[in-house]
Amino acid sequence: MSVDQSPIRGSRRSNPATYTGLLEPIRKAFAKKNGVKPALFSANSEGACPSCNGAGVVYTDLGMMAGVATTCEQCEGRRFDASVLGYRLPARTSARCWPCR
Ligand SMILES: [Zn+2]
Repeated sequence: MSVDQSPIRGSRRSNPATYTGLLEPIRKAFAKKNGVKPALFSANSEGACPSCNGAGVVYTDLGMMAGVATTCEQCEGRRFDASVLGYRLPARTSARCWPCR
């Protein structure tokens, strides 16, 4: 569990896998293959969609009422910046189950 998240962002995360470290091998593999920093492939870090800050959804604050969540139009709920989404691993390796390697 990261302690550098703001309370609001942390409580609204819907994907607990981002906290478990399960995705870390995937980030490192992408970074190594593409020659960039692993942080780019974290929706909590540099790779986050600038529109929704990596949440995948945009919250509309309705004041006294509960906020309404809509899928982020910029990343279409994929949580990452468009430039990050363009990175790919070779099909041969991406077909494998990374956590099982
Ligand atoms: Zn977005």
